[in-house]
Amino acid sequence: MIVMKFGGTSVEDARAMNTMIEVVSRERQRNPVVVLSAIAGATNTLLGTAQFAVESKLDDANRLLNELLERHVLILENLITQRSNIQELILEVRRRFDEMKNLCQGIAILGELTNRSRDAIASVGERLSTLIVARAMVEHGLPAELVDARSFMVTDDRYVSATPLFPHIEERTRALLAPKIASGTIIVTQGFIGSTVNGITTTLGRGGSDYSAAIIGATLGAEEIQIWTDVDGVLTADPRIVTAAKKLKVISFREASELAYFGARVLHPSTILPAVKKNIPVIVLNSKRPNSTGTRIVADPPKSNAAVKSIASKKGITVINIQSTRMLMAYGFLESIFSVFSRHTTPVDLVATSEVAVSLTIDNSNQLGDIVKDLEQFAEVSVLNNKAILCIVGEQMHSTVGIADRIFRALADINVVMISQGASEINMSLVIDEAQINEAVKRLHGEFFEPIPALEIFESIGVN
Ligand code: ADP
Ligand code: ASP
Ligand code: MG
Repeated sequence: MIVMKFGGTSVEDARAMNTMIEVVSRERQRNPVVVLSAIAGATNTLLGTAQFAVESKLDDANRLLNELLERHVLILENLITQRSNIQELILEVRRRFDEMKNLCQGIAILGELTNRSRDAIASVGERLSTLIVARAMVEHGLPAELVDARSFMVTDDRYVSATPLFPHIEERTRALLAPKIASGTIIVTQGFIGSTVNGITTTLGRGGSDYSAAIIGATLGAEEIQIWTDVDGVLTADPRIVTAAKKLKVISFREASELAYFGARVLHPSTILPAVKKNIPVIVLNSKRPNSTGTRIVADPPKSNAAVKSIASKKGITVINIQSTRMLMAYGFLESIFSVFSRHTTPVDLVATSEVAVSLTIDNSNQLGDIVKDLEQFAEVSVLNNKAILCIVGEQMHSTVGIADRIFRALADINVVMISQGASEINMSLVIDEAQINEAVKRLHGEFFEPIPALEIFESIGVN
């Protein structure tokens, strides 16, 4: 079997849904499990609605909900052909929006928006897109069946970014999904959403549908996990920053993980891990150009002489400099620093140390005040805001002479506040001012990818 995940733009309207159904039916013989996102923009709208509700702006909340309702009604009127199906679906969609209006009223009355309510509201986007697509597939003569992801995607109760509980998921996917797949059913299910063991709705975090697809693929031993999106594959840079970005035909799991972690939104950062564990190739494909070949992400891609494969960037970074003479020749200092971050549940991205100082970066500064207060108990602390990470990735970088020289020459007049050569030796990360990040990405792209360095790896991209 294979997993086919379609992102928001791949189900954004009736036309996109028709294309994706066509793409699925092409793969019918390979027993696809179809994982869907909400229609483009729906999750943002839903979370915006919840925010209006807690601010007691119920008119604004209802306006957003009505607009989103109309979008869904328009889609199903243009996609579904049988009158009775249209009427039934419209009733069902309206019922869900009524429920949401009630929920918003409750939030407004209490004046409190919990992460649990956020997840309940956000989940509606994926539940609606799958409801509509599953019905349309049946009308197209496909043996499709909607299975609610909350029946098998078991997570802990850390709402808004819940962690999947693999033993439970394995047990349930084998019991609930495997027999249906074996009998030829095309399962349609939601990405992004799950539920606690007690059945309370959770989500895996923004962009989490990729992760859902990988989890389903890994637990069911898929032969391939396809991620259908709005670009030709994994590119040499974010095409929104570099219009001349090229497609990578193939990259390694390790390279893709680094890119995803350091800001390449095309894949949720956790996507690769389940695939690596079971050695399942992940293919990133463009649903606007379904005949293009995409990017294959595999364990051991063929070696090439292109040392640098791609450039990622991540804005909204805070640098914390921690200085103490007590660090000199002492042990236990780093431990005391990291215990502060772990106490405040804040992940650290990059670290650089000298004899008397440690610099590190975080991208979640919610707990910054408390972190600084705790660190000041034993060190001098300074904070730099509005920074960005620039991450250059490639398996052969560490064994190629001259890469660092080319990077620093291209960025000669840009102030670099921190450097970290990834422990995996396949990336180099620099921290610079956020305001200069796009310029820096463009310059490095010009240096390493214009013109195309190795045709066996890179390819010019098509226009959607
Ligand atoms: P989906 O809704 O299909 O999950 P996303 O918007 O989450 O799609 O991810 C696709 C987007 O990721 C692209 O439109 C592109 O702007 C962005 N992106 C950032 N870096 C890269 C990269 N290196 N390669 C491809 N896309 C990238
Ligand atoms: N719909 C969710 C989001 O917008 C999940 C996803 O698309 O991957 O974050
Ligand atoms: Mg995404």
